[in-house]
Parts: sequence; C-alpha cells; structure tokens
Amino acid sequence: MSNTVKIMSNAMQAELQSFMAGVEARNPGQLKFQQAVSEVAESLMPFVIENGKYKEAKILERMTEPDRIISFRVVWEDDKGDIQMNRAWRVQFNNAIGPYKGGMRFHPTVDEDTLKFLGFEQCFKNSLTGLPMGGGKGGSNFDPKGKSDAEVMRFCQSLMMELSRHIGEDIDVPAGDIGVGAREVGYMFGQYQRFQNRWAGVFTGKGLTYGGSLTRKEATGYGTVYFCENMLNHKDDSVKGKTVTVSGSGNVSIYAVEKVTEMGGKVVTMSDSGGFIYDAEGITAEKLAFIKDLKEVRRGRISEYVTEYPNAEYHEGEKPWGVKCDIALPCATENEINAEAAQTLVDNGVMAVSEGANMPSTMDAMHIFVDNGVAFGPAKAANAGGVAVSGLEQSQNALRLSWSAEEVDQKLQVIMKDIHQKCVTYGTDSEGNVNYVNGANIGGFVKVADSMLSYGIM
Ligand code: NDP
Repeated sequence: MSNTVKIMSNAMQAELQSFMAGVEARNPGQLKFQQAVSEVAESLMPFVIENGKYKEAKILERMTEPDRIISFRVVWEDDKGDIQMNRAWRVQFNNAIGPYKGGMRFHPTVDEDTLKFLGFEQCFKNSLTGLPMGGGKGGSNFDPKGKSDAEVMRFCQSLMMELSRHIGEDIDVPAGDIGVGAREVGYMFGQYQRFQNRWAGVFTGKGLTYGGSLTRKEATGYGTVYFCENMLNHKDDSVKGKTVTVSGSGNVSIYAVEKVTEMGGKVVTMSDSGGFIYDAEGITAEKLAFIKDLKEVRRGRISEYVTEYPNAEYHEGEKPWGVKCDIALPCATENEINAEAAQTLVDNGVMAVSEGANMPSTMDAMHIFVDNGVAFGPAKAANAGGVAVSGLEQSQNALRLSWSAEEVDQKLQVIMKDIHQKCVTYGTDSEGNVNYVNGANIGGFVKVADSMLSYGIM
C-alpha cells in the first residue's frame, strides 16, 4: 500500500473503495482506464471530501464518464486491391474548459479502454497548461508499420470522411500520438479541408507550410526535460552533468534526448519495441542526427544504431531500466516501468523520473518512486508541453500569424514552470516534500471541477 493511502483515514479509504467499485462496475474489463482513474482518485479523495461542494455535486463521478464516444469502421483498399477494415474511435471526454483536445493514436493495441484512459488523463493535463482546452483522444487499431505511403494515405482519408463530422476548431481539435506523425497529420488534415471546403485550425502538429507551429514537433520532449529541470532546481540541482536513460525512439524520445544533451546531460539509452541500445559514451547531437534520419525518414529499427556505432550495445527484447542512471525519462508507451524496474532504478540511485509517455509507470512503480523520495513527474504534468504548444498553434491559426521558434520555446518554458509551481502549491506536504502526483491531480482537477459547478446540473 502506498504512503498516500496509508495516511488516509478509514472513512476515506472506504469512500475510495466504494468510488472505485462503481468505476469498475461501469467500465468492466477496462483495466487501463481503471488504473488511470484509480491513480487520480487516490490523490483527490481527501481533497474532495475536505471540499464538500465537489462531493455533493458528484464531480468526480461525472468527470470519470466521457461526454461521448464515437466509434466507427474505416474501410480502405490496400496496394493489392484487397479490402481492409479497421476500427476507429474519438473519445470526447470533457469540454468544460475548452474544445476537446488530444491526439490520435494508430497502433494495433488501440481499443476503447486505451483511448478512455488517454482522454481522461488529457482533461487534467490540458487544464494544468492554463490554456482553454478540454480533454479528448482518438485513434485506430490500424498499424502504419510496413504499409506503403499510398496505403497510409487511403486509410487516413477514409478515417477522416467520418471523423470530419465530429471535429472543428471550436469543437474538437485532434493532433498526433503514437503512429501519427507529420505524414499522417498531413493526409488527415488535407482530407478535412478538401471535404469541408474550408481551411480551419482543426488539427495541430500540422506541417510548417500549412499552419503548423514552430517547436510543436520538439515540444513534448523538450517540455519533459524542462519539467525535470524544474524538479531538480527545486532541490538545488540540475540536469547538467547527469546520466540519463530514455526509452523509445519516436517523436517524444528524440527531442527529449536533444534537450538533455543541449543542457549538458548525457543520454545513454534509447529503445523501440524490439529492444534498447546502450551507448556508454553518450548519444551526442551527431549520433542523434543519425537516429532522426533512421526513425523519421527511413523508418528503420533502433538496432541499426550499433552497426553505425559499434562501441554501443543492443539488448534485444529488453527495456533500459536496468542501466544505472541519475534520471529516467520513459518516453515510449504505457506501463513500461513495472514495480521490479522501478525498484531497480531506485536501487541504482535514480534521483528523478519525468514521464514523457502517458502512464508509463504502473501504480506500484509510481508508489515506489514516491515512497523513496524520487522526484517523480507524472505524465499529465511532465509531458504537457506537447499539448501546450498545440494550444499555441491554435492561437496562431486563429490570429493568422506565426511566432518564431524562440518565442514559442520561451512560452513553453514559462508554461512548464507554471505547471511545476501548481504541483508544488497543491502537492507539498507538512514536511516540505513535494508529491508531484497529488500536485498534478489536484492542480488539474480544480479548474475543470469549478467550471462544471458553474454550469449547474448537467
Ligand atoms: P511515436 O510513435 O513517435 O514513438 C513511439 C515510440 O515508442 C517508438 O520508439 C515505439 O517503438 C515505442 N513503442 C510504442 N509502443 C511500444 C510498446 N508497446 N513497447 C515498446 N515500445 C513501444 O510516438 P510518440 O513519441 O509521439 O509518443 C510516445 C508516448 O508519448 C506515448 O505514450 C504518447 O501518448 C505520449 N505523448 C506524445 C505526445 C506527442 O506530442 N507526440 C504528447 C504527449 C504524450 P516501435 O517503433 O518499435 O513501435
């Protein structure tokens, strides 16, 4: 049992159990969604009970039920002329503080459970940024890996024929996520504006030639590192000179590595679903340029790194958490750090964990970090930089202008600092220790909950 739950009174524990029993009954078999809600409820229950207005209005119950879920089939033709079919969803979770906002994920594991967990998390994350964005998420069980550009285009165009009925710059604004990068966003956005016969900032993560924002591509990875720097600064320390393990080699990972290196840290691992590479000499800017080309242009595998840099090692089928480090940045996918991996990281002296991916730590792993005094930045705070710059992209589109990379990066740094401050405000205990999980959950909750209260019973 975590310290958070241990210090709850029996009455509060009973309240938490009864609330979770309801969530489990309403969402049978949706284990990721239950996990995401449970993590939030554990932080929020004492706060909600203390502030009776939220409890009376059943805000927590209402916030764990999406506004709506749109589910549809996507039929497309592959290069051989065979008909293929996938499932797609858009989960419009909560628009109390602004239009629904959240990425689209294309991966064979995508299901309603995954998108509900992501949409739920997104509500808190978007609130923390301070920008007017509600929470949503979407995606499909389509796997872009191994498909030709023409197949990906036909799939994206078919998906958008249905999705376009449900989105709009003031309704719901999707973006990228796992498996959805510049190519996919281009195909989807292009189909939207062709079909609707209007150009609107209805997608973020767009290409720079058609309304995208400078620094959007870099924002999630950079933001995760800025958040980590803020956590370390709070302890009079910094990223400079630290050894860092990173998982993944996609959009978030690449730009997290770039920022750590720029700030004087040394990244020694990256990974993909095949395994991880360990480079004791550090992944320098020059080596990262190789990875960018490998992953963003050639769509290759991380194992190819050791052919180019033979001093590095490739560990097939393994995750990087056994490598000794000061900072860990999980940037691949959910539940990639379990209790055993967390304990290994703690035993090896990790001082900070900043989550670039969404829910990469299991509940047990999270408890191990928090209980051992690791500066643990949960995803909804640490990776909010991506959606924050998406919000800035929407502002630029609405204003019909483009800000410079320096301007956007400056705003991103301010937003990450503000999010850190919210976590400190809501998460500092009587001994002065910051529990960033509590801080992010309560800090994200208040704005959404107060807006819902203002709207009355609905
Ligand atoms: P990408 O598709 O660009 O990269 C994902 C990386 O994670 C790849 O290296 C991929 O390896 C690896 N990966 C994916 N699934 C698994 C798995 N089941 N096991 C092991 N490795 C896996 O995605 P992003 O970088 O955009 O997203 C990464 C994470 O960050 C996700 O959790 C996403 O929700 C989160 N996030 C992303 C934001 C963004 O702006 N892009 C914003 C906020 C959060 P492989 O190629 O082998 O599949």
